Parts: sequence; structure tokens; C-alpha cells
Amino acid sequence: MVLKTAGADSLAPKPKPLAVAPSAPLSVLVAEDNRVNQRLITRLLERGGHRITMTSNGREVVARYSEERFDLILMDVQMPEVDGLQATAQIRALEAATGGNTPIIALTAHAMIGDREKFLAAGLDAYLPKPIDPSALQAAVAAATNGAVRDAASRAEIQDP
Ligand code: MN
Repeated sequence: MVLKTAGADSLAPKPKPLAVAPSAPLSVLVAEDNRVNQRLITRLLERGGHRITMTSNGREVVARYSEERFDLILMDVQMPEVDGLQATAQIRALEAATGGNTPIIALTAHAMIGDREKFLAAGLDAYLPKPIDPSALQAAVAAATNGAVRDAASRAEIQDP
């Protein structure tokens, strides 16, 4: 039997953090009804130099979207009033009339990860599981600058235990 010691563990190679290229400052529209997650998302995005517009339900996010252009939308799936899937469908319907194709990344509980087909059908580009992993969020936001949102979020999802 081999007993591992703390000393031996500390000598083991540590996994390198995911290399994330710094992204250009983006204007990000966020829909999230949970205060703790609102603060976390705001802190992470501000650290990246992005401009944040925070809303707390699906009705507000659609209203803000129709007033202003954004580079990226982060959409909580479970929200009061109008949920994230309904809000995404409404935004896609507006875009069908006015043009544009804003990347939308869903933020969702682990239990709903199996609903991938439903998410994509609603018009979401990608989704990140909650609790939010800061490096996965930063990778997805960085990818929004080069149109690779789906790829980055898929990688983040695979790495999530
Ligand atoms: Mn929620």
C-alpha cells in the first residue's frame, strides 16, 4: 500500500489553467434573477474590461435588447415573468425582422444540461453550467469576439466535472 503525503502531492505536476486570449471590450447584456450570480457575473466581466447591462427577467432583457445593440447576451434559463428560452425566442424573432445575430449564451443548472436540443432549438448558441466557472465564462466571452462561442462553451462543458 502506498500512502500519499502532502509533500508528494505538492511535487506532482499541476494542470495548467486554460489559456484564454484576452478579448476586446464588449458590450454585454445579462439576464439573471439571482443576486449572487448577478454580482459574480458583473465582477468577472468588469475584470475583463467589458461593459455590462444587467437585467433580472426575460421581459426586461428583451426590452433592453430592442433599445440598443450588444455584442453578447448571457441568458439565465430559469427566470420569473419570461424565462430564458422564451426571451431568446423573442430576441431571435426580432432579429428575423430587423437583422442581426447576437450570440446568446445560456446559464443553466446542471440538472438541465440534458436539454441541449431544446436550448439550441430556442436559438441559443451555447450554454454554461451553474455554478458558473470563471474561466469557462471568460473563455466563452473571449470566443464571442471571433464568432466561436459554441466551440468555447462546448469545451468548457466537457471540462466541467
Ligand atoms: Mn434564475
